[in-house]
Amino acid sequence: MATPQHPVACMSVDVEDWFQTENFKCVLDPARWDEFALRVESATDWILERMAETGAKGTFFTLGWVAERCPSLVRRIVEQGHELASHGHAHELVTKQTPEVFREDIRRAKGILEDCGGVRVIGYRAPSFSITDWAVKVLHEEGYKYDSSHFPTLAHDRYGHLSGAGAEDVIFQPIEGFWEVGMSTVSLGRKGIPWAGGAYFRLIPGGMFRNGIRKILKERSPYVFYIHPWEIDVDQPRLPGVPLTKRLRHYTNLRLAPGRFAELCREFKWTTIREVLEPQLGANAWSL
Ligand SMILES: [Zn+2]
Repeated sequence: MATPQHPVACMSVDVEDWFQTENFKCVLDPARWDEFALRVESATDWILERMAETGAKGTFFTLGWVAERCPSLVRRIVEQGHELASHGHAHELVTKQTPEVFREDIRRAKGILEDCGGVRVIGYRAPSFSITDWAVKVLHEEGYKYDSSHFPTLAHDRYGHLSGAGAEDVIFQPIEGFWEVGMSTVSLGRKGIPWAGGAYFRLIPGGMFRNGIRKILKERSPYVFYIHPWEIDVDQPRLPGVPLTKRLRHYTNLRLAPGRFAELCREFKWTTIREVLEPQLGANAWSL
């Protein structure tokens, strides 16, 4: 299997605004998104600044919906040497879409992102990691070359799984010619604990989380971390009526996340998923 020779840490950012998360769908119809002031641009700029300070590079899985409204943000991501990739357009779980709706969603996002960024977009991350086998085939047919959503864990109700991956596989081909770069976990018996970001990153003490990254880098490189711009946006509006479990998932320890993220940038040498997959795909795969 195509595991890099040296330990590699991939930074990834899922570029969406605070009101677009799955946790809020139960109280907020996506038809209302345009009622809210955008905070994603300034929050993503904060992330870009921290990464620039330490020379970190990353893959920015950006929503087509956001790119339509913030095209200059997309250009800044590309100009600063990061990889532009797709988080789809409307941020609906893959498992709730038909293949036809999914095809339209990923095609639309790819077109908008490529127009704004002037680069070819070949990477995809599913909303809430909800990837599933049929979607991989559609992604491949629409010109995507890789996905980064597979979580080898049973610890979360929404995280999707792909067939054909061994428990130890981080990089694998779910279908011929299409690659998966899975999200990182720490082994606990036969189940993995997600160790890649999100609420786990905010709940687990910072030093312990960084120790886990070091361990993964030694055993199963590449390590893949993800963060959302809203996770470092401590002053974001609080939405009323969100059920307790979803409120906890979204808001717990938000105030600690900016400092912890800056610490991660300083401690590890971060790169893009593009760099990890170049041996498989060739450097021209990202050229328009
Ligand atoms: Zn998302």
